[in-house]
Amino acid sequence: MTRSKLYIDGQWVEAKSGKKRDIINPYDASVITTVAEGGREDAIAAIKAARNAFDNGGWPQTPATERARLLFKLADLIERDQEELARLESLDTGKTLEESRWDMADIAGIFRYFAGLADKDAGEVIASPNPSSSSTLVREPVGVCGQISPWNYPLLQASWKMAPALAAGCTIVMKPSEITPLTTLKVTELAEEVGFPRGVVNTVLGIGSEVGAELAENTDVDLVSFTGGISTGKTIMRAAAENVKKVALELGGKNPNIIFDDADFDLAVDYALNGVFFHAGQICSAGARIMVQDGIHDKFVEALKCRMEKIVIGNGFDDKTQMGPLISAQHLKKVQRYMDIAQDDGAKLILGGTTPTDPTLKDGFFFMPTLFVDCTNDMKIVQEEVFGPVITVERFSTEEEVVKRANSTIYGLSAGFWTKDPDRIKRVSSALRFGTIWANDFNVYFVQAPWGGYKQSGLGRELGKAGLEEYTEVKHIYQNH
Ligand code: NAD
Repeated sequence: MTRSKLYIDGQWVEAKSGKKRDIINPYDASVITTVAEGGREDAIAAIKAARNAFDNGGWPQTPATERARLLFKLADLIERDQEELARLESLDTGKTLEESRWDMADIAGIFRYFAGLADKDAGEVIASPNPSSSSTLVREPVGVCGQISPWNYPLLQASWKMAPALAAGCTIVMKPSEITPLTTLKVTELAEEVGFPRGVVNTVLGIGSEVGAELAENTDVDLVSFTGGISTGKTIMRAAAENVKKVALELGGKNPNIIFDDADFDLAVDYALNGVFFHAGQICSAGARIMVQDGIHDKFVEALKCRMEKIVIGNGFDDKTQMGPLISAQHLKKVQRYMDIAQDDGAKLILGGTTPTDPTLKDGFFFMPTLFVDCTNDMKIVQEEVFGPVITVERFSTEEEVVKRANSTIYGLSAGFWTKDPDRIKRVSSALRFGTIWANDFNVYFVQAPWGGYKQSGLGRELGKAGLEEYTEVKHIYQNH
């Protein structure tokens, strides 16, 4: 097991209040371990340490090649300990060990990618209107960054923030979700082993309305990067306005997966299922809103139902398990509430909708794969993020109609569609208003490609070169000769 304290200014410390929190295993509601629960005072101490490391510690001036060396070393340590990290992640979130192993392999790659980018930007010379002058653009680190991550992909989301911020020369205060802090604590330990200078990396555990709110409000924080729900994102944006703090927001999604009549049927069924049931549907990019064209609608629904009946639910550490539990009792209640809401709105439940009857799963936060048909655009279950193993199916007739309906949402994170027609691929990719479009695939992401949302799904981008640029300011240096 990993450390259980806060990491502030190069020291492992208890929360100033002495508060603790039990970390719960979603598989059986048992206590995995108990960790320190920080509050505002601890957040302030960490922000001061990060401010000092940025202003006086020399981290922004450290050659980019040296910052890269430390990040490459961190990637090596993550790879060395990846099995332990994967097991911790599955304990903490309930997701299958196979999924956690994929995450950990990705995470080492994310640190390597940003380590590789750290020393590539040498600035840019631009044309100046005055022939006796020169103009140069340089990118500088934005400063102290508050980083707030969610519980669904705890370390993956944290790494999307930590790696580019450190590569850019920023100092960080990381706040993982209070219910899933274990892998972030472990990686903080690895950062200590790497030997980042004191105060560059700080990790403060605690609840959002205390530690998170302090990161959003404190005027010594230059940027707050947040991944989580829309309403929390709005609260953070309001708080950040106080000192015009920069904000990067990765918020929710309600992601359409559109199946045209001419799709490769079997592949579309496979990916429709993969698109939803990873981590029991608790993915911001889950393709939970499936839209099927008239000609194949009934056959597609039947195929989905047959396959969903066979999904093996259980302990994420069991090789046979394909889907684990939801994250918490509270979240299970939220998903359950949607069952009534959907049926009151007229959706027809044809599978699931309940907790499992298997007595061995009775203590965990499990929910059965659930399928609603006869869904329409105006239903809450279609418009809102359920964040569970729940599919809604809508029927459509024409390309024009489905694109219009798919776009009629406040979200704009990702969308997918299936067709063999190359002209349609061009038209639909261009017409859909989402940050990522998958044509004949679903849920693919990789570190080289920027990730983020249109509309209320967020602000800014993570990953790719854009993910590094979020952590920089551009300075124009004009010199008159
Ligand atoms: P959440 O908004 O409840 O919490 C996210 C984080 O914010 C946690 O660390 C929490 O402690 C903190 N927080 C809560 N209140 C706060 C406040 N007032 N001020 C500052 N911080 C506060 O979200 P969650 O339930 O942990 O995660 C699920 C959500 O995250 C879903 O909506 C999902 O779509 C979204 N998500 C988005 C992406 C993406 O890439 N766009 C990725 C993963 C998850």
